[in-house]
Amino acid sequence: MQNDELVFLKLIKKIKSYNPTTDEQTIRKAFEFAKKAHEGQKRLNGDDYIIHCLRTAGILTELKLSDTIIIAGLLHDVPEDTKYTTEEVKKQFGLEIATLVSGISKLSNIKYRGTEKYIDNIRNMFMAMAADIRVILIKCADRIHNLETLEFLPQEKRARIAHESLEIFAQIAHRLGIAYLQNQLEMKAFPFAQPREYAWVTSLITKSYTQAKQTQLAKIINKLPTILKTHHIPYLKIYGRTKGLYSLYKKLLRKGRDLNKVYDYIALRVIVPSIEDCYRVLGMIHQNWQPVVGRIKDFIAQAKPNGYQSLHTTIFDDEKNLIEIQIRTPSMHETAEYGIAAHWLYKNETGAIDETDVRWLKEFATWQKNIETDPKYLEEFKLDIFQSRIFVFTPKGDVMELPEDSTPIDFAYAIHTRLGDGCIKALINGQNLALETKLKNGDMVEIIANPHKKKPKPEWLSFVKTRTARNRIKSAIRDKYKNI
Ligand code: MN
Repeated sequence: MQNDELVFLKLIKKIKSYNPTTDEQTIRKAFEFAKKAHEGQKRLNGDDYIIHCLRTAGILTELKLSDTIIIAGLLHDVPEDTKYTTEEVKKQFGLEIATLVSGISKLSNIKYRGTEKYIDNIRNMFMAMAADIRVILIKCADRIHNLETLEFLPQEKRARIAHESLEIFAQIAHRLGIAYLQNQLEMKAFPFAQPREYAWVTSLITKSYTQAKQTQLAKIINKLPTILKTHHIPYLKIYGRTKGLYSLYKKLLRKGRDLNKVYDYIALRVIVPSIEDCYRVLGMIHQNWQPVVGRIKDFIAQAKPNGYQSLHTTIFDDEKNLIEIQIRTPSMHETAEYGIAAHWLYKNETGAIDETDVRWLKEFATWQKNIETDPKYLEEFKLDIFQSRIFVFTPKGDVMELPEDSTPIDFAYAIHTRLGDGCIKALINGQNLALETKLKNGDMVEIIANPHKKKPKPEWLSFVKTRTARNRIKSAIRDKYKNI
């Protein structure tokens, strides 16, 4: 049997473990279609290309995702890298899958160029161009497998992809509350993005440090079940969980690089059946071990903006070591691990989401509520908060965010008043187009300005979209009449 056939059978087995009614036939059809399309193509590590498609789908099964997403995952590189078009995918697999696949292709045009100032814009642009959250899930899975084979790429390419993974992909996964994807991306990108810092963190986590922590934890793990049983408090699981190294690294930076100030590298996790049990367990723990003041956090009553819920507390154990304990229900656990992706297979029972001043997180909370009240909403789940915004590139590769229907004049004024005033010509993707042309997502815009021209043209008022541009043009017109 061929290697790809074995990987495929493993994939099917995994899907069946969480979705017994999977449409195996269509998944096989997608596998064979992708295999034929990529025939003769090799990955840099020597694998047949189809292995990459299968692994990408495999990562999606870790999130227990639906057939549609798995199939789109298998086909994700077809229009980009083979002679088969999106049209062909549509003919074979229908509009929904074709739309997902073409969404993934569009995203490959966005390249991270390390301009820190605009990183937020790049993230937002990414979300806007993805349009469907499922596209982002597939893109993250694709990226995770690319990171797994990163060592075969040339040095500078490695660093760029690793940085992009940390700053764009992992951050988006975090915003969507999908810890599973975030951890995978961070874990695999960290050593390539910051080799020295990675080496430093690994040197801190010595064997004896880990062992000491685990011994501390074991003492509580041995005692807690008896306490809970005596008080008839049910629990499902008590275990130690270890933080990812990149997440530990970020925390160390906030704590003056002092490992002694990090209490949750290894934390204790207690899973209980209901919300009520969460609070009862918390009470029992506090009765038996002294809690640290100011470290009790109720993320059940007040969920984090990305939907995360749990009770956190830090206690002194019998030897006065500090240990963090996290208490949650299975459904909270699933929301924490799979975030928005959990909605595709699991009913979600999260409560209200905290208001935040970040515009898009507010919108995100609304989507979550809509999904809870109407599961159908998910079918049309679109990242429409960005539909009124577009993202365009400067010639240097920076990303500017503008309202929909913005023109090169709006773009010029967004960069600098003088650039707007002096604007005589605009090159959009290298083409000389009219100044009233409406810009589209992903356009690269270059403004040609005459440094001696210091006045905007009044007729620009009829098409500009941004307040900045409009106000500047109006005030220039007023100045003109003042001088008469
Ligand atoms: Mn790919």
